[in-house]
Amino acid sequence: MSPSGDDREGPIDCPRCAIPLKEETVERLGPDVRIDVCSKCGGTWYDRGELAAVIKDRRIANAFTEEPIKGIMGPMACPRCGGRMRVREDWGVEVDVCTSCKGVWLDLGETKALEAKVERTLEDEGPLRKQEPAFYRALDEFSDQ
Ligand SMILES: [Zn+2]
Ligand SMILES: [Zn+2]
Repeated sequence: MSPSGDDREGPIDCPRCAIPLKEETVERLGPDVRIDVCSKCGGTWYDRGELAAVIKDRRIANAFTEEPIKGIMGPMACPRCGGRMRVREDWGVEVDVCTSCKGVWLDLGETKALEAKVERTLEDEGPLRKQEPAFYRALDEFSDQ
């Protein structure tokens, strides 16, 4: 880690394939988001805050990233800071979260699964709250902060 605390410069390697990730810009209504994508396995790295911008739901992104302690310790080291990563699984979406920098790794298909979940949640939050009350209690706690 650099003394300045800014570790976001320069290419990082795929935590699965150990090849450099390619930077891609995701166009949004607000400021565009720069993400890092592996050309081999299709996985994507999101620095802290980037996942919320891409899936357009800060509550759901935070539910994954702000409490990584709830996940199990995963096999990967963080490609950004070398920190330990934990695996969280909610709604069948597996998310690797760095316990240090709060960056997020999603394997191929998991970003889409998460986006689809967000869309369903926005459309249909009432019925889902009854089915998954514990998760929504956690969301409410985050949105209060
Ligand atoms: Zn890869
Ligand atoms: Zn990290």
